[in-house]
Amino acid sequence: MASHDDAILDDAAHWRSRDLAVLWHPCTQMREHPDTLPLLPVARGDGAWLVGHDGRRTLDAVSSWWVTLHGHAEPRIAEAIARQARTLEQVILAGCSHPPAVELAERLLALAPRDAGRAPLAKVFYADNGSAGVEVALKMAFHWFRNRGDEPRRTKFVALHNGYHGETIGALSVSDIPLYRRVYAPLLLEPVFAPSPDAYLARDGQSAEDCAEEAADALAHLLDEHAGEICALILEPLVQCAGGMRMHHPVYLRRVRELCDVHGILLIADEIAVGFGRTGTLFACEQAGIQPDLLCLSKGLTGGFLPLAAVLATQSIYDGFLDDSRERAFLHSHSYTGNPLACAAALASLDIFDQDDLLARNRDTAAQMAALAAPIGAHRHVADLRQTGMIVAFELARGGDKATPFDPSLRIGLRAYRAALDRGVLLRPLGDVLYWMPPYRIDDAQLALLAETTAAAIEEATACA
Ligand SMILES: *Cc1c(COP(=O)(O)O)cnc(C)c1O
Repeated sequence: MASHDDAILDDAAHWRSRDLAVLWHPCTQMREHPDTLPLLPVARGDGAWLVGHDGRRTLDAVSSWWVTLHGHAEPRIAEAIARQARTLEQVILAGCSHPPAVELAERLLALAPRDAGRAPLAKVFYADNGSAGVEVALKMAFHWFRNRGDEPRRTKFVALHNGYHGETIGALSVSDIPLYRRVYAPLLLEPVFAPSPDAYLARDGQSAEDCAEEAADALAHLLDEHAGEICALILEPLVQCAGGMRMHHPVYLRRVRELCDVHGILLIADEIAVGFGRTGTLFACEQAGIQPDLLCLSKGLTGGFLPLAAVLATQSIYDGFLDDSRERAFLHSHSYTGNPLACAAALASLDIFDQDDLLARNRDTAAQMAALAAPIGAHRHVADLRQTGMIVAFELARGGDKATPFDPSLRIGLRAYRAALDRGVLLRPLGDVLYWMPPYRIDDAQLALLAETTAAAIEEATACA
């Protein structure tokens, strides 16, 4: 007779084989499952833990692709969704209204980054995932100039090297991650790419601020060259997340804001990943004191429970669509626009910021993360340790020298992933960049496990090199 343990193991194996028989996983070379890349069956979530069918716990150090804000199965959000589901699960948002959509818009506008010298963000347009939110912002910017009629040549976007804004055709067009973009290049719009302000690119003696100023100077030249052709510039404020958690000095954002104003270009801040406290402030733009013309939010918006995006726009942009002609209206829509369950989850998530004094708590957690990361940053193969708020990244390179990245065929990041998973931590490196972006409810013991495991994973992954 099989022992109890065997039965439990069989359960995980059972889900693995049923999965691989029918599922095509995102962002995955399916051929690597299950031998190169183990598949982790998850039965339930509990705070920062993912719990397997065998009861084995794995720490979710990447907040399940940066969405899980508080913790898995956070009861206050679960309860809010359940209550909303019994009240109103969905209603068409064209021609209809419902309280969660209205209340969430009011709260987001009240919390949005603000610059006293400008009219505040004033309207909210919903979409149902980050990429769709980016599409909304791009189309809105283009259409706003089209409606004005005085500058028909404004059809181009400026995007940054190493930026990421999603996978749909428009969002991918303004993204610059070769692995995702290159294959589809023939299908994509051609934006004007500007240098990244990334502080990792600093040459000898350059500070992060120097890198930011240099990139802003280059941007100024590009905007001169393309005067009158650009409708909007899109960027990820403070951290280029998918691009390897590359970070930049806030002075870049101030310079970009000024340059956009000088050239009459709309500034789109994509805070889909960095919004809702990830960088230490509720929104990253606050650290530069700037206010964008369009602000894209998603991922952590619902606390990580349901897909939802919000695009916040100025009154001036909104007014540009008011007309007797329906063609001048923004006719964009998604079936689930402003879904009440997702809005209710987002409202409950915002409540938790107040109830738990979360930004203050995160400052303590971020300080703990810094202390735990420092000794790992001294490892001989760590070329850079960087942190912005609740995001910590370790960039691995041979001998800790930026000039000698590891041969990609060594798949150091994948080795680290497997080593960490064996030890009960889900780290999902971006190439050879290991990072921590945990749910905010992570506790001291979990942080200690995270640090210990990261050190061990780096040691094991680089042992071959
Ligand atoms: C994840 C991400 C997106 C895309 O969001 P999806 O919901 O995955 O489509 C857009 N911009 C940034 C900065 C992101 O990190």
